[in-house]
Amino acid sequence: MTLQKIKTFFKSLWFHVWAGFPKSTQEEINFRFKICTGGCDMYNKEDSTCMMCGCNLNTKKMFMNKLAWADQECPLGKWEKIVR
Ligand code: SF4
Repeated sequence: MTLQKIKTFFKSLWFHVWAGFPKSTQEEINFRFKICTGGCDMYNKEDSTCMMCGCNLNTKKMFMNKLAWADQECPLGKWEKIVR
């Protein structure tokens, strides 16, 4: 992991903690994943990460998955944060 990716991760983590660890539903994760894998040039198939932010992208409801954090948003605006 590069220094920039580490900085991005901890910045995202800070906001995630501040927001109270809001989680996405499985449907919301699937929706976001479909957008990432459905033709976005920034999706890296090799390791299933976003080349814009370096975050992991998958359909699992796990901590190390950007799509599972409801307060996250696509850096290109292709999907938005979830406000409940
Ligand atoms: S988070 Fe946004 S920029 Fe990154 S791969 Fe997904 S759609 Fe593309």
